[in-house]
Amino acid sequence: MTDSTNTPGATLIDGKAFAATLRAEVARKAAILKQRDNLVPGLAVVLVGHDPASEVYVRNKGKLTLEAGMHSFEHRLPDTTGQEELLALVQRLNEDPAVDGILVQLPLPDQIDTDAVLAAIDPDKDVDGFHVVNAGRLATGLPGMVPCTPLGCLMLLKHYVGDLSGLNAVVVGRSNIVGKPMAQLLLRESCTVTIAHSRTRDLPAVCRNADILVAAVGRPQMVKADWVKPGATVIDVGINRIPKEDGKTRLVGDVDFDDVSRVAGAITPVPGGVGPMTIACLLNNTLEAACLRRGLALPE
Ligand code: NDP
Repeated sequence: MTDSTNTPGATLIDGKAFAATLRAEVARKAAILKQRDNLVPGLAVVLVGHDPASEVYVRNKGKLTLEAGMHSFEHRLPDTTGQEELLALVQRLNEDPAVDGILVQLPLPDQIDTDAVLAAIDPDKDVDGFHVVNAGRLATGLPGMVPCTPLGCLMLLKHYVGDLSGLNAVVVGRSNIVGKPMAQLLLRESCTVTIAHSRTRDLPAVCRNADILVAAVGRPQMVKADWVKPGATVIDVGINRIPKEDGKTRLVGDVDFDDVSRVAGAITPVPGGVGPMTIACLLNNTLEAACLRRGLALPE
């Protein structure tokens, strides 16, 4: 795996390089599966409507799935698609033996009940890990599909920090797709976990207690240097687009990178930190789902 790059303050956690290594590992294992079991895992991605950010994500997922040596099935539906039509497609994908992973790109248009669609996905093909069965498996320590973004954060933490046992971890954000599963994963690693959110009192003081600080908030550059314990590891999940002086925009995280880099021990940049890990973990989950569903051993 990658080594850290030393910046004047914090070590830069290079998620882009780590993700490329993980994708290459997935491709290597997919090649073994093909030769050993005559199996090529398949990922089905469903996109409803034309949300520009979702279009980019779906295109990338398709390209990287093929690059990893797996089948990619894209289903693009118009933004007028009704609930029943989408549920019928999910059902067909559940029953399709060539499909090992199903991902319904969020957000869905208003006429569709997102929870009902996520609940309709076969939990064993739920490579996003959003189904309540997988949330329950994670909470109770059973094997299952783990949401890709927090899984990517955990991989980075284990690589750069090592043993997490006994560390104080603070997760800012309590969404079902990032904050809560992140907290569960850190608990599983025997961290002492605090989940902070918009009602948390004196958030800077809570954050200053963290050896590991994960920001998944959606507020540009909210976390400042004086919120961070010197030497702490900071994982920035946020993806926010802010205006530049020339009228264009740029991506920033939930952490004020330049400010926090002066005190943190290690930090993920945005872009190039957590973001690339999400798709790499999706491919990894698809490969694992293909093996688990068929009772096959994961290639070494
Ligand atoms: P949500 O909007 O679902 O959740 C945001 C959380 O932040 C909520 O729990 C909210 O608290 C909390 N919050 C909001 N404002 C504050 C505040 N001022 N102080 C403390 N807590 C606050 O967002 P997501 O979890 O879906 O995403 C979070 C960020 O991560 C976004 O920037 C998103 O774009 C990014 N993201 C990045 C991914 C990647 O691949 N790198 C993947 C997914 C998301 P409350 O519950 O009280 O409202």
